[in-house]
Amino acid sequence: MVGLKCIYCEDPMSNSSVEHIIQSALGSNLKSRNLLCAVCNNHFSRKDSGYMDSCLVDQFKLFRNLFSIWGGRKTPPPVLRNVGKIEGMTIHLGPGGTPIFAKSVREESIDENGQLIISVSSRDIEKAKEQYEHIKRQFKEAGVKLSNSKKYKLSLLSG
Ligand SMILES: [Zn+2]
Repeated sequence: MVGLKCIYCEDPMSNSSVEHIIQSALGSNLKSRNLLCAVCNNHFSRKDSGYMDSCLVDQFKLFRNLFSIWGGRKTPPPVLRNVGKIEGMTIHLGPGGTPIFAKSVREESIDENGQLIISVSSRDIEKAKEQYEHIKRQFKEAGVKLSNSKKYKLSLLSG
């Protein structure tokens, strides 16, 4: 390592470090030696650098998702969460950019009469019924008596 300098701090490298995080994020097990010193390598993974390593790796998530790239440590391509909404349902992007509807979305609000309105969006009627039963159990366990249950209605947003 005589004559080699750290690419960041330009100090002579008496103790080089193994850089792997970028290669790993792109699906490789390759490691780079003699690029940066151990001090700089450690610094980039710490809070005082703004977790620069992690921030850099995050930049690859879209590509890893769209092209289904596995990480170098056998981590599956990432799912991109909460990329948008369709008819109130949250959409995630699975590997290969495949849209995935979030399991169920539960929203609560108070109407003009002070009544609690619970709205559930699910990917299909069976999931909606599961959520409805779950909500009924939650209220029962909390000792809240549901009245006027005929006000509850199911509406299908799409087939
Ligand atoms: Zn350095």
